[in-house]
Amino acid sequence: MADTIRKNDEFELTITDLSDEGTGIGRSETNEPGGNTSGFIWFVKDALIGDRVRAAATKVKKNYGFARLVRVLEPSPYRVKARCPEARRCGGCQIQEMDYEKQLKFKEDKVRNDLVRIGGFEESAFTFEPIMGMEDPWRYRNKAVYPVGKDRDGNLIAGFYAGRTHSIIRCEDCLLGMEKNRIVLEVILSFMKEFGIESYDETTHAGVVRHVLIREGLRTGELMVSVVINAKQLKGAEELCRRLKDRLPELASFTLCVNREKTNVIMGDRIINVYGPGYIEEEICEVSAKPEAGSYKYHEMPVKSVRFRISPLSFFQVNSRQMERLYGTALEFAGLTGKENVWDLYCGVGTISLFLSKHAKKVYGVEIIPAAIENARENAALNDIGNAEFYVGRAEEVLPQWYKEQYQETGEKIDVIVVDPPRKGCDIQCLETMVSIAPERIVYVSCDPATLARDLKYLCANGYRLDKVRPCDMFGHTVHVETIVLLQKLNS
Ligand code: SAH
Repeated sequence: MADTIRKNDEFELTITDLSDEGTGIGRSETNEPGGNTSGFIWFVKDALIGDRVRAAATKVKKNYGFARLVRVLEPSPYRVKARCPEARRCGGCQIQEMDYEKQLKFKEDKVRNDLVRIGGFEESAFTFEPIMGMEDPWRYRNKAVYPVGKDRDGNLIAGFYAGRTHSIIRCEDCLLGMEKNRIVLEVILSFMKEFGIESYDETTHAGVVRHVLIREGLRTGELMVSVVINAKQLKGAEELCRRLKDRLPELASFTLCVNREKTNVIMGDRIINVYGPGYIEEEICEVSAKPEAGSYKYHEMPVKSVRFRISPLSFFQVNSRQMERLYGTALEFAGLTGKENVWDLYCGVGTISLFLSKHAKKVYGVEIIPAAIENARENAALNDIGNAEFYVGRAEEVLPQWYKEQYQETGEKIDVIVVDPPRKGCDIQCLETMVSIAPERIVYVSCDPATLARDLKYLCANGYRLDKVRPCDMFGHTVHVETIVLLQKLNS
């Protein structure tokens, strides 16, 4: 008979599962005095499946509780040493202490389980392809945003916010980001010191430098630096730019971004151009993505490419390498021959639309943010793409309206619809209209397996068959997983 565990009590536990957030889950026999309720659930941050741990209760509810990892008694066979000394404090990498192959397995299982449990699909009824993993799951981010502040001794630092607070912990070399981020930060911090420029202080709303944004094009090698300031100008900005350019000749754009609001939104909306055209360019290449037998590795061959302009405020996928595989899969699943009309809903700056346009008759993109659509149109022009048309608005409004006004009048056939919605998935009006338009194929790109499974359930109850599922690891060491799904119209 187990004793009641109260707050601050220490106890031993075997971790048998991981939550969607990457927290270890274990069951203790009972938490009732003399009770026989089996399966009291504990959530233990930083503990991994397979660990036997000593934990200390931090919060005890009726049927579950939270506990702090005191120490690992017997490590999981999948436990590896975190490479980043700040992994636990930062929290950006929830599963850095899990072997990478196991991380990939965990993500595959998450997608499969959600499809079965939430979507109600039979595992044998669709093709589940292996996850597209990374060859090297480090330094894959093409974008970094570092807050700038001071440590306790008043030294200027850059780093990350300590979990749920606004105090900055020094960390100038995130191992998911580029090595040169460190050089950029070094130059900026020493410049600030020399020129007596203060970092921004959130509590007093005083000081100047808030954040540093760094981006690089993988294929073009062009580097962007933007300094977010709480001021109209930055004293010595040209000198700072010269120093950056001296150390990093690939610097192609240096800007200041004015944000004078009392807000935790990082970027402001005014950009002051100091050097370069105000954007960098990146190429996205077509690569075929065929898995090698029994491996997470993929064969690839770059062929055509599309060029994109990225400004400090544009949304762009952060993992360039995996993005090409993701879009390559969307292209493969779309099954285009050059004759198709395609909708790309939630199109952002038109990345997928333009990527598909060379293989389609016509592509329509829809996106809620007007600036992104402006970028999409510019990008179409930049690549001489004349068969892409973009609409600003909500997918769940633009599509039904188009359906009512144009589709029924012109009878233009839509062959493929691609969707890439945010985490909350597609709106029901959007799904309903998709079903009415009845394209041969629907390609669903998702960043949340749970809402994906929910939406697929609706589509498959309304005339579609789940054909293929291929997850993609865009964010190694985090719990996030991207999935590309192909749906085929029934009776076609
Ligand atoms: N396909 C793009 C962007 C995907 S992110 C890419 O791969 O780069 C999802 C996009 O959906 C964001 O750009 C967001 O602004 C947009 N969005 C969010 N809600 C929307 C809605 N209701 N209708 C249309 N677009 C929406």
